[in-house]
Amino acid sequence: MAVMITDVCINCAACIDECPVEAIVDEDENPTGEETYYVYADKCVECVGYHDTPACAEACPTEGCIQWSDVVEGMPSSENRKSKGTPVVE
Ligand code: SF4
Ligand code: SF4
Repeated sequence: MAVMITDVCINCAACIDECPVEAIVDEDENPTGEETYYVYADKCVECVGYHDTPACAEACPTEGCIQWSDVVEGMPSSENRKSKGTPVVE
C-alpha cells in the first residue's frame, strides 16, 4: 500500500527527508510529469515499523495533501489506514 501526494502539494520539501525508505521524489523527478512531489507506491511502507503515523503526512504543512492510496500487494499496510482518498492527517 501506499500514500499519495495530491495536487495540493506546494513543493515545500518538508516530507522528503522524513521518509525512512526514500519513497518520495521531488517535482523534477516526478514520473507523471506533474509539478508536485511524488510517492512511489512500490517503495512506500506506510511507515509500518518506523512510525505510528506516516511521517511524510505529519511533516506536511498543507491541509490533506497526502492521502491514503491503494493497498499494494506484498507491501506492509498500516492498521490505521483509511480508504483511498482520505487525508492521512486530518
Ligand atoms: S508513508 Fe512513510 S514510507 Fe510512505 S512515503 Fe510517507 S514517509 Fe515514506
Ligand atoms: S510536505 Fe506536503 S506540500 Fe511539502 S512537498 Fe511534501 S507533500 Fe508537498
